[in-house]
Amino acid sequence: MIVGAGFAGFQTARTLSRLAGRRVDVTLLNPTDYFLYLPLLPQVAAGVLEPRRVSVSLGDALPRVRLVLGEADDLDLESRVVRYTGPEGDRGELAYDRLVLSVGSVNKLLPVPGVAEHAHGFRGLPEALYLRDHVTRQIELAAASPDPETCRARCTFVVVGAGYTGVEVAAHGQLFTRSLVKRHPMRAGIQPRWMLLDIAPRVLPELDRRLSRTAERVLRERGVEVRTGTSVKEATHEGVLLDDGDTVDTRTLVWCVGVRPDPLVAGLGQPLERGRLLVDAFLNLPGHPEVYACGDAAAVPDLEKPGSYTAMTAQHAWRQGKVAGRNVAASLGIGRRGAYRHHDLGFTVDLGGVKGAANPLGIPLSGPLAGAVTRGYHLAAMPGNRVRVAADWLLDAVLPRQGVQLGLVRSWSVPLDTSSPELARVPGGPGDADRNGGTRAGSPDGSAGTAASDGGAKAAGADGGAKAAGADGGAKAAASDGGAKTAPSGGGTGKAARADRGSASKDGE
Ligand SMILES: Cc1cc2nc3c(=O)[nH]c(=O)nc-3n(C[C@H](O)[C@H](O)[C@H](O)COP(=O)(O)OP(=O)(O)OC[C@H]3O[C@@H](n4cnc5c(N)ncnc54)[C@H](O)[C@@H]3O)c2cc1C
Repeated sequence: MIVGAGFAGFQTARTLSRLAGRRVDVTLLNPTDYFLYLPLLPQVAAGVLEPRRVSVSLGDALPRVRLVLGEADDLDLESRVVRYTGPEGDRGELAYDRLVLSVGSVNKLLPVPGVAEHAHGFRGLPEALYLRDHVTRQIELAAASPDPETCRARCTFVVVGAGYTGVEVAAHGQLFTRSLVKRHPMRAGIQPRWMLLDIAPRVLPELDRRLSRTAERVLRERGVEVRTGTSVKEATHEGVLLDDGDTVDTRTLVWCVGVRPDPLVAGLGQPLERGRLLVDAFLNLPGHPEVYACGDAAAVPDLEKPGSYTAMTAQHAWRQGKVAGRNVAASLGIGRRGAYRHHDLGFTVDLGGVKGAANPLGIPLSGPLAGAVTRGYHLAAMPGNRVRVAADWLLDAVLPRQGVQLGLVRSWSVPLDTSSPELARVPGGPGDADRNGGTRAGSPDGSAGTAASDGGAKAAGADGGAKAAGADGGAKAAASDGGAKTAPSGGGTGKAARADRGSASKDGE
């Protein structure tokens, strides 16, 4: 039984089903019927790729695996049962002999006033679709506005966090708005302004310095304002107050300050390392030889750097999934188990257009060569849809970007503070409030505030934002009294209910 079909879970399922064939029943529990190739999400937000290109069908890619659609919200390690909520609100229960937890991570929050209400994260497909529409809308509204101040504010886009996600969002976003403005010129000749902030002294602070330099140079050449050593002190509907005292009028705040492990694992009552489930080098949960964890949600000892844990990257998650699959098979008498060990192969950062920054095997690359290596790497790494992705790239190279907003994902349906970034909230959808007595409902959608940033109160009302805000009000309150704290069966009995991310933000993450 594998919970979560991202990089780690997908690869566990694939490896195990290949090794064990029909001797083992592999069940994969995931809220969506696709594997999401997250590294290409900035290209979805910028209109380079259509969303289904980065969504690889689990049914097609894993034909021998039984897919169950749903979100685990109650793990009972004692009776070896996973309880979940299906896509239509139905409850289900699955028993297991071996369990692999690979539920990934969610947006990280910081206790900054106004951010939960006015910022959006970038961890799932709904957020990327929202951002694409939102940015398009801001440019269209700005072009139609007679007021230069409003126009300027709508044309200002602030990205917080200059890790690979923030850098790619800003790099692609700037090219996207540049192409939109060609079709919607601003009255006073105002140009889109992109700002990238980070409290760290350099962009890509966790990567090689040469990658940082390349990325910063490309961003600055394009006109992105890179402000290192700077962060947001407060966010409001009208803009942000920076910690250096500057105020920036904007309707767009993209929150890319990092991720935290999915709160589900915190509820297990097992030892954690910064919210990640502590496992041994064989990816086993100590004291539970039948339970494994891997990917962002697991703290896996880094045998290449003794004393530390592997980073939260796709590179590790993918390979850990392989090891988890092998080790589960070994526990059933098929093959031999092995410890997880991986030497960093370098990193690639897609800067949009033909540019990139990369250091494959430690060799620093920049410009079009890095761009080509980055795209080639992604194509090779994707477990499907390669021809479709390449076709979209080709079309993007010869045709102008499509500047239309479908408006299907609205601000209130992609709250920053959520444990389910893979799903968009829908008004009257399968009952947040019905589930877990309000725990899941904690999906506080910050509706009122964020919907307003879509274009004011009118937009919020028109798309049901106001309604959703009202409907969620109670749920939010219910969650804030601590789904995370009450649901786990305390005392480490091994039973976990889905933790509420609201509480995490209060804990100061
Ligand atoms: C925009 C972006 C760009 C990135 N670019 C790179 C990059 O270039 N290189 C790199 O190495 N890393 C990159 N990363 C990081 C990388 O994507 C993650 O480290 C990786 O996805 C972790 O894999 P995972 O399997 O642990 O989690 P995920 O891939 O997130 O998968 C988790 C899965 O679990 C499911 N799930 C969650 N909760 C539940 C539940 N309760 N029940 C059932 N299923 C559940 C989710 O729906 C999802 O399918 C990027 C991340 C982002 C957001």
